[in-house]
Amino acid sequence: MIKGISEALLRLLYPLLCLHCGEGLSVRGPLFCACCLEQLSLVEMKGRCRTCFRELHKGRCDKCIHRKVIIHHQIAACQAMGPANTLLKEINKGGRTCIAATAALMAYQWLETKLLLPELLIPLPTSFWHKQKAGFDVQLSLARELGKVFSIPIAPVLKTKFDRFHFLTQGEFRYRLEGRRQKGESLCDRRVLIVALEHNDDLFQQAGKELKLFFPAQMDALAFATKLD
Ligand SMILES: [Zn+2]
Ligand SMILES: [Zn+2]
Repeated sequence: MIKGISEALLRLLYPLLCLHCGEGLSVRGPLFCACCLEQLSLVEMKGRCRTCFRELHKGRCDKCIHRKVIIHHQIAACQAMGPANTLLKEINKGGRTCIAATAALMAYQWLETKLLLPELLIPLPTSFWHKQKAGFDVQLSLARELGKVFSIPIAPVLKTKFDRFHFLTQGEFRYRLEGRRQKGESLCDRRVLIVALEHNDDLFQQAGKELKLFFPAQMDALAFATKLD
């Protein structure tokens, strides 16, 4: 009897519900029910541009063939749909408990590439508004978690900076990325991996241009989610 009551209380304190469909879970701990977990699959990398991750038939897309390669591979773990989209939304609402699962999916996808492990992780800076909304630095947390999985250090050398030139010439507020030298980890001759919550070719290019100034050996980018093509 007492056990029954305490179990009921536990349920109130820790709802045993699937994050995505709200289905009851038989054990406390996992975020999703078995059914939703099955829908949580990694994006197939075959049939995507190996540089920017856009869907296509073979090799590299037109855009990438005609531009200088700065980021060698851009990869995303999941498409922003179903349970993966729920994870994305939860994180953006401040769901820190979803960070570990999200980082694990990213780690799996990286291993799928069969590329060498990076030597340094660089989180894309989280914008001021994004931080306000989530209540924490989402991309820094993701990088830290991935760092734990792979046992590699992180170097938050990218910052957002108010784009004064754009403001003066175009009259619009905009931020741009800037790489800042810092004590500790050096990027020189190392394989670096840019870590982000969402895939964004423009931001990855910007980040790559800034990081290039620190002479890394190779630059790749890994995001959790990519929008539907
Ligand atoms: Zn479910
Ligand atoms: Zn491409």
